[in-house]
Amino acid sequence: MASPRKTDRVSASRSATEARGETFYPGPSRTQLAAYPPKERWDDWVELDSRAWPQRVERHYMLVPTTCFNCESACGLLAYVDRETLEVKKFEGNPEHPGSRGRNCAKGPATVNQVSDPDRILYPLKRAGKRGENRWERVSWNEALDDVAARIRRAIVEKRPNDVMYHVGRPGEDGYTERVLAAWGVDGHNSHTNICSSGGRAGYQYWMGYDRPSPDHANADVILLISSHLESGHYFNPHAQRVMEGKKNGAKLIVIDVRLSNSATHADHWLAPWPGSEAAILLAIANHLIQNDLYDREFVRRFWNWREFMEEERPAEPPTFEAFERTLRGLYATYTFAFAERESGVSAAVLAEVAEVVASAGPRLSTHNWRSAAAGNLGGWQVSRTLFLLNALTGAVGVPGGTFPNSWNKFVPRPIHTPPHPRVWNELTWPQEFPLSMNEMSFLLPQFLKDGRGRLEVYFSRVYNPVWTNPDGFSWIEVLTDESKIGLHVALTPTWNESASFADYVLPVGVGSERHDVHSYETHDAQWLGFRQPVLREARGRLGQAVKDTREVNPGEVWEENELWIELSFRIDPDGSLGIRRFFESKKAPGEKLTVDEYYGWMFENSVPGLPEKAKAEGLSPLEYMRRYGSFEISRKVGAQHEAEVPEAEIEDVYVDPRGRAYTRAPKPSGPNVVPVPSPDPDDQGRRPVGIEIDGALRRGFPTPSGRLEFYSSTLKRWGWQEYALPTYIRSHVHPENLAAGEMPLIPTFRLPVQIHTRSANAKWLDEIAHTNPLWLHPQDAGRLGVATGDLVRVETRIGHFVVKAWVTEGIRPGVVACSHHMGRWKTGDVGQRQMMATVALGRDGTAWGLRRVKGVEPFASKDPDTGRIWWTDAGVHQNLTFPVQPDPVSGMHCWHQAVRVRRAEPGDRYGDVSADTAKARKAYEEWLSRARPAVLYSPDGTRRPYWLLRPLKPGREAFALPGWQPLRPKA
Ligand code: SF4
Repeated sequence: MASPRKTDRVSASRSATEARGETFYPGPSRTQLAAYPPKERWDDWVELDSRAWPQRVERHYMLVPTTCFNCESACGLLAYVDRETLEVKKFEGNPEHPGSRGRNCAKGPATVNQVSDPDRILYPLKRAGKRGENRWERVSWNEALDDVAARIRRAIVEKRPNDVMYHVGRPGEDGYTERVLAAWGVDGHNSHTNICSSGGRAGYQYWMGYDRPSPDHANADVILLISSHLESGHYFNPHAQRVMEGKKNGAKLIVIDVRLSNSATHADHWLAPWPGSEAAILLAIANHLIQNDLYDREFVRRFWNWREFMEEERPAEPPTFEAFERTLRGLYATYTFAFAERESGVSAAVLAEVAEVVASAGPRLSTHNWRSAAAGNLGGWQVSRTLFLLNALTGAVGVPGGTFPNSWNKFVPRPIHTPPHPRVWNELTWPQEFPLSMNEMSFLLPQFLKDGRGRLEVYFSRVYNPVWTNPDGFSWIEVLTDESKIGLHVALTPTWNESASFADYVLPVGVGSERHDVHSYETHDAQWLGFRQPVLREARGRLGQAVKDTREVNPGEVWEENELWIELSFRIDPDGSLGIRRFFESKKAPGEKLTVDEYYGWMFENSVPGLPEKAKAEGLSPLEYMRRYGSFEISRKVGAQHEAEVPEAEIEDVYVDPRGRAYTRAPKPSGPNVVPVPSPDPDDQGRRPVGIEIDGALRRGFPTPSGRLEFYSSTLKRWGWQEYALPTYIRSHVHPENLAAGEMPLIPTFRLPVQIHTRSANAKWLDEIAHTNPLWLHPQDAGRLGVATGDLVRVETRIGHFVVKAWVTEGIRPGVVACSHHMGRWKTGDVGQRQMMATVALGRDGTAWGLRRVKGVEPFASKDPDTGRIWWTDAGVHQNLTFPVQPDPVSGMHCWHQAVRVRRAEPGDRYGDVSADTAKARKAYEEWLSRARPAVLYSPDGTRRPYWLLRPLKPGREAFALPGWQPLRPKA
């Protein structure tokens, strides 16, 4: 079934609107709102002072672009800098930004609250008592950096590079810090991704070699979301506006979510299945497409690795496409609507109706799975694998209205210095038990340290709050307070958080308007580059005042990290003898420190196609252009890269294997215009993979081992997961058959639209809007429990319990409860955030830990009169402390959903009570670990991990060798 390609509907509708004489902002946003200040007037924009009313008092502003740092979407902001006082008065959207197009969610403008937050950390602090006592003294940056640098230097010199770890929450940048760690030669990058999105990523990775989707919602006929992108999610605001654009153009919206999310409220079809059954639904839809010939045969024939599947798994059959189609029908025949109804509880008739809607889209099917089911369930990664199966069947890949691989719609510029890959492997983050994990096994770090698998000399938590964000936070406290396990904890953070209380140094870093970063995200079928900058530095620059160090313009001694890392690296290797310093030196003035101007100036001049020309046309240097506009659109309509013919320059001594995989001796092209791809293995003659041969033409294909979309993953098979090699359904750990009597699933994975984990709690406007996280409870369950809205309930997990208020609502599936993880912030004393952290007493009896609220949020006097007007007392309940770690054995994702018992609170229970036992948590860790299939037993070739899989800060090939490996079992 091949649908004719239609024109770009968004462009067509814009043309019609333009023809009617309506105005668009002329920049990349092309939005119809004409309310943006034209860029020609950004140096002196005049508005009337609303507070001076009825006098008409003019205020003159300099509008300086930067990028929001409050979630991963990286929307453009415009800082309104008062020309008279050089204060930032407000933030609004940047209409020059191609991703966000001048629009923001509430968290963007709330950046101004974070700048002026009276509780923010302004100076470097060193602990003055025991870790966790929250007694601090001010130190100089010099003292702090000398201490940290000396410890890192010692670890490197003494050949203990794995003793240095950088654990990042919100990166907000592409590659800068990975480059720093590579220069130090440490495999010390740790991320939060395995408690966030790695389940979703794994499903995409096994299909196409890219780990994220880039849906073209605006041009879709049908939008299928297993996520809540209209209120949160990667990349929330940029995607939400394009979902609405698609709907405006007639697209149908299908939302699969256990909760009536904001997204579900806008859906044409909302399905609320049993949690973890999503893949069963998707397979039933796929089966409908397959059995009724509603799929794109030509696309499947050309781009799936069906031949590999037939040859390896059906050797008795002829390896023809017709035979494969017959096999395909048989493979999925059992996934009927009736089967999906039994698993999900959604009626077969509704599923059939939705399947017809999906089928009607043809290739204009945009889909997205993020966190949600993929992050909640054992086997959740198969949710995104089965979701993408629908795109792969309908040919909705890389076409208008379809779903693109993220890397085609993203651009990562080359930096001025590129250090080599580290030559070491860190088993604290990439342990042998999880050779296929998508990202670092970060949430198991406390257990690994308790196992004695390693020790950390220096542990950086950077814009990250491991105690609060991870499951089993009490185990984090146990290791963070044990100096034999963590020698030095350095918290790099713009705001107080629970984990910073357990640090040795708290070093203040900037919010979104106080730091430099570059980033680019897959918001639509285009490539753009965004630039975050300290806005007062640029404002001073426009006034002709030179700024050498960002601390000169930031509040207190808040420092941006770019400069901080350069300084720290110089102190680690002051004479250059370790070979580190050279990566932080100026090219223009060798031996001197690289400046951020030179770093980004070089990047924008040499590595961003089209930018130098565009800047020149305006009489600007590329850096001046980015400082003035904050973003640059590199290309639009990147299109179907898999169809692109391999260029002549890459054809040299080409070998095409019998399955059509083409290899070349031509070197990889360098230069800025190359879509970044991971590298599958070379052939046995050392040629690199370059594409695939289809019907006589050499096309780019996908960066998978086969070069095609991998319906059949030989990687999964070879590494011991044969049963999951095809898109399939794995019953979740919260499937009814895995629940004990009286247990029900708790859904803790959803965000609140106006809060983001730790970072937004210092924004008063957001705190006023959202400051609680009640337990969603269906009226049937509430009736059974005898509970009404506002009543206290006890939610018991397998390692503890928390006490929370009930919210009785029909917006949740009966038999399931839900509670947002975006709440429950706490502090143990006076130090910390006062507008969104409750004060608690933290208690311990052996391995039994408890947390009880002493007082809630209260008004307080500060330089901001609004803090005296705080009317809320609630700050929510911290549920994650009561969750054991539950690593998925394949993707490594923490499976967030919990099997819980809910009952009325007991006498003596108080709102916000939390208790958990770390001995029970340890047992749960051991149970889940036993599901793993370790590399030492299952590696087919003596490596730790398939080299072609993505890995942040990928070490050199030599580090992939598994020490002492023996082929203990026959090769699969
Ligand atoms: S918090 Fe809102 S404005 Fe900021 S990047 Fe995310 S979606 Fe955009």
